[in-house]
Formats: sequence, structure tokens, C-alpha cells
Amino acid sequence: MGQQSTRADDEDARARALVDAAIGGDARALARLVSLAENGSSALRAVMRAVAPHRGNARVVGLTGSPGVGKSTVTADLVRAYRAAGLRTGVLAVDPTSPFSGGALLGDRVRMQEHATDAGVFIRSMASRGHLGGLSVAAPQAVRILDAAGFDVICVETVGVGQAEVEIASLADTTLVIVAPGMGDSIQAAKAGILEIADIFVVNKSDRPGAQEVVRDLRTMLAMARYGEGAWKPPIVTAVATTGEGIDELISRLESHLTWLTTSGELGLRRLARAREEISAIAVAEIRRRIGGLPGESRLDDLAAQVASGDIDPYSAADKLTAG
Ligand code: GDP
Repeated sequence: MGQQSTRADDEDARARALVDAAIGGDARALARLVSLAENGSSALRAVMRAVAPHRGNARVVGLTGSPGVGKSTVTADLVRAYRAAGLRTGVLAVDPTSPFSGGALLGDRVRMQEHATDAGVFIRSMASRGHLGGLSVAAPQAVRILDAAGFDVICVETVGVGQAEVEIASLADTTLVIVAPGMGDSIQAAKAGILEIADIFVVNKSDRPGAQEVVRDLRTMLAMARYGEGAWKPPIVTAVATTGEGIDELISRLESHLTWLTTSGELGLRRLARAREEISAIAVAEIRRRIGGLPGESRLDDLAAQVASGDIDPYSAADKLTAG
């Protein structure tokens, strides 16, 4: 007992030291903390205990859309604009579709190189490492760590289309849905329920043919949606991310959205919703860990054999699994 609490105290002390170092501007400590989140490390509990009192006030901007629409290019433009305004900016490129380590995803890209030596910029690609809870646990913790470390803006770029993307988007205060001509995007977007999560639409690659049709399709879709009194109506920004065209307008729309979030009280509501998501993602992962709900774990396998052979019913099996 005594020994156990000493070990926990040690872990807490180590976590506090690392968190203090990251807050003090130690880039390696910060990178280490984000790795602990990404790897679902057992040290993460102590880290998050140490992080909790250091709530910053970072604004979280989500960027989402199909592969190739220009998310990374738009992100790089935003980083440039925010840095020019003197804001410390973090970028998390999250790939829920791939179990492989990132790095190649965004950090290595040429357009991010200009920020590589800037201490006011932190860039990290995160991939699903296959541990319980995966990115739905890891990504929000990484956001908390960057927030505590004093970043003013955190861009969360998500690859892929579908539920995972929607989940990650719920991390953001403002979600940009990026589409581009020639990709059947607006139709795809409607299918994936992405219209519901968009605060701002960016029609990127507007130097390409078909951009006006994409804008028109989005306008039609938005015209069919109903907005209550005082609700935010998602604007459509056309951009050419490779030249930076439209980025000033995008920044100004982001500012308007932040003002709306603050004055309407929606910012607080979104952050509460985010905390709820975080808690349930951690709780679900924890329950799964306790009941050994992964294939290859003997308790589950034994019960599966009994259900398959008709010895017991699946409800009774589930009760046995959760009782222990
Ligand atoms: P992501 O997969 O959504 O992150 O897309 P990227 O940012 O990697 O962009 C995919 C490709 O589209 C790259 O070759 C970019 O240089 C190019 N690209 C990005 N934005 C534009 C744009 O506005 N116009 C054109 N013509 N190409 C663009």
C-alpha cells in the first residue's frame, strides 16, 4: 500500500515536471507529452492530472474534408496568418483511417517546412495506434496538452470522411469543411452528415473549373436548411490555398464565428459537449479494458464459445463479463 502510493507520487511528480517544462517552452517536453497521449501510455493519467489546473484559452479550429481537397495547404496558410498576428499555433493532423504513424502525413510536407524551426509552432501527425479508445481518447488529450502549454490556436486537421471525422470535428470550437471541384464533394459531404458539423465552408481550388458549381450546390443545400433566430448560418469562402487567395476572408469569418460563439453562449456549450465526449470515450475504453472485450482475450473467448454452442444466452454472457 505504502509502496504503491509512493510509486503513484513518483509518477505524479514526473508528470508535473514534464508539464511544467512544456509550459516553460521546452519543445521536447511538449513533444513527449503529445506522444504519451498518442500512445495511450499508462503515464497519461498522471499527465492529465498535472495538466488539468493549467487550462489555457486556446481556440480550436477543425479542418475536415476528403483527401486531396487541400486541408494541409489551408492549414499552412492559417498557421502563417496566425503567426503573423503573433499567435502561438499548434497543428494536429489526425488520421482516423490509418493505424500507421504519421509524420509523413503533414509534418514532412514541404509547405510546413517554413514553420519547422519556429518555436511558436507545434506540428504533429497522429495516427490510430490500435489501442483502446484510439484517437477519440488521444486527440482531445493532445488538444488539452497544447492548450495548457499556452498555444493560442490549435488546428485539428482530419483525414477521411465518415463517423470518425465527425467525432474528431466535435473537438473544435469552429469546424471548417473543405471541399474542392471535381471530387463530387458536396454530394459526399451531404451523405456523411458533414453539413451538420460545418461552421464555415471553404471551396478550395477555386482556380479550377467547376468551383462555381460547387458553391452553387452548397448554397442550394444551405437554402434548404432551417436556421432559428440568432443561429449561425455557415458562410461559404472560396479560396486558392496554394496562392493564399481567400485566406484573409477565411480569417475574418473565423473571427466572426468566434464572436458569435462567445456572445451566444455557444462556446461554453461546445466545450461542455467536448468534455462529455472525452469522459465517455475514456470511460468506454476503460470498461472495455476491464471486461477484456477484445478478441483473443480468454474470458470473452470462453463466453463466446458458450454462446455459440447454445449453453448460455448472450445477455447472460454479457452480465457475466461485466460483473467481474
Ligand atoms: P489534403 O490531402 O486535403 O491535405 O490536400 P493537400 O493540402 O495535400 O493538397 C492536395 C494537392 O492539391 C496538393 O498538390 C496541393 O498543392 C494542391 N492544392 C491545394 N490547394 C490548391 C488550390 O487552391 N488550387 C490548386 N490548383 N491546387 C491546390
